[in-house]
Parts: sequence; structure tokens; C-alpha cells
Amino acid sequence: MLNLTKKFTGAFSVTGLEKPLAEIIRAELAPVADEIISDPMGNLLVLKKGKDSSKKLMIASHMDEIGFVVTNIEESGFIHVSNVGGINAVASSFQRVRFANGVYGVIVAESGVKPEDLKANKLVIDIGASDRKSAEKKVGVGDVCAVVPMLQKLGGTRYAAKAFDDRIGCVVSAYAALQCGKPAYDTWFVFTVQEEVGCRGSKPAAFRVAPDYAIALDVTAADECGNKNDVTKLGKGAAIKIKDSSVLCSKLIVDRLTDLAKEKKIPYQYEVLPYGGTDTSSMQMAGIGCAAGCISIPTRYIHSPVETIDMKDLKACADLLIAFIENGAE
Ligand SMILES: [Zn+2]
Repeated sequence: MLNLTKKFTGAFSVTGLEKPLAEIIRAELAPVADEIISDPMGNLLVLKKGKDSSKKLMIASHMDEIGFVVTNIEESGFIHVSNVGGINAVASSFQRVRFANGVYGVIVAESGVKPEDLKANKLVIDIGASDRKSAEKKVGVGDVCAVVPMLQKLGGTRYAAKAFDDRIGCVVSAYAALQCGKPAYDTWFVFTVQEEVGCRGSKPAAFRVAPDYAIALDVTAADECGNKNDVTKLGKGAAIKIKDSSVLCSKLIVDRLTDLAKEKKIPYQYEVLPYGGTDTSSMQMAGIGCAAGCISIPTRYIHSPVETIDMKDLKACADLLIAFIENGAE
């Protein structure tokens, strides 16, 4: 699983430009797939046929990550940007960034801006160009970039990286696809696009699959220093989502995941998130609707370049997902 984590966190996959990561996932899963579809929006859909083909399970994890898009370039060569997705400007400032074409820069706050006034439009990128003309040889308006990939081992089984949201969801899904036995139902492992700008890719993907059951995999808030409203605790297992702002999970899925966790002795906790949204809601409301739930991965410092997870939780999430895939919903 660490191997997949390294591969996926190192890939370029800013919202709207997820193809490099999609190609890596396609190559990983091709040996076990019965069918693979790349849809018009860029979602990657990987089918594993099940024992009962009268029912369909859809699993969704999003490939995209937050980033920046170039809005204009100053005569001096400084590059102005706008956010792609929910940027935390303070957390994203004074970092190294990389564009899809491999150009590197540093993103900094405009001089004199107080931290409390810092927004994405007060951040500028310096790629080392001495004027606009030389900057434009490397970067143009509309180009997107993200913080430079980093995967850092911390103490014990904990790791920090940028874009664990939602590369680790993709890792859990891909690992399950590779490791699971014959699925109970025809199972579509879907790697979605454009989640960070409003769960957009999962909508047409769910319309295509028309699942009976659906499970999303995404990160959720974990215990951070000074936060008294801990949603989940790092290292305490897979988080079975009850709700977030976009969804009330199907009780059938919540109960089934709980029973499977107990039966297989997989550590679990519940997640009741008072904000946020995931692909769970798109799948729940697609077509005639379906029974949808979500396995969340406890993560600290979400949408920062140092998102932090515990690999034990990742394993618990994968074990729980595999148990559901193999045993079905009821
Ligand atoms: Zn996410």
C-alpha cells in the first residue's frame, strides 16, 4: 500500500487536469479489470465482475487536488493566480509549486499583506523570470499548478504529504481492486475528477453506472492540536461516515459497514462532520437514487501541504472496503 501511496502522491493531478494520475491508475488496475472506461469528463471507471451481476456497486475516490490557475503575468514577471478549489492561502504560501509542464516556482504572499487578510488573489508565483516576456515562455494564463509533491515519514506508522486528499482514497480503492476476491456484485471502481470544485465528476459517472449501492472514500478531519471538536482520531481506525453537509448516509450502509467491522475485528469509528462534502452525495442522488455511504480516512491539516495520516487507518479502511465488496450489502 505504501508503494501505491508513493506513486499516487507524486503524480500531477490538479482539478481539471487529472489525466497523468488517471494513466498511472489505469496501468496499475488493467491486469485485474474486466472493463475500463475513460468518460468524457475524464473519470476513470474500472469494472470487476461479481457473483451477482443483477446488482451494481460503485466505489468513488477523487483524483483531483486543489491548486492554482494563472490569471495574469506582471511586467516584472510575477505571476498572479486564482484558487482552484478550497485553498487555505496561509497554508499554501511560501511553498514550492510545480506546473504540469514541469516548470517550478515559489508561491509567496504579496509584500505587506497581513496573514488575516491573505487570500488566494494576494498570492503570487515567482518562477525566476526577470520580466513578463521570459515568464510567458514557460507559463501562460490558464495554466494550473500545485504544491510540489512530498511524502514524509513521521513517527511510527504516520506520514505527511500534500494531496493525501484524496490520493489515499484512490490508494484504498486501487488496493481493494487488486486484493479483493470475487466481488458480491458487479463492482465499478471509479476514480473521479473535479470533486474539489463541487463533486462534479462523480455525477455523470454515477449516472452511467446507475449503482444499487455506493461507497465513497475520502479524507475527514482528525484530532489536531487545539481543536476541541475532534471529528475522528488518528490511528483509531476506519471512519464510517454518518453525515457531512452534503449527505446523510444510508442507514443500510452504515449498519452493514459497522457489522462487517465488528465481525472482521477491523478498528472503526464514526464520523459526524458538521461541514464539508464528498462524492457520496452525487452517487446517492444520481438517477433513481441508491444506498450510499462513505469510508473516511482520518487526516490532520486537510488542504495544507502537510496533510497527515496513520497507515494503520489506511489498512483498516482497505480491509473494511474489501469486506463490503466481497460480502455485499445485505
Ligand atoms: Zn477530498
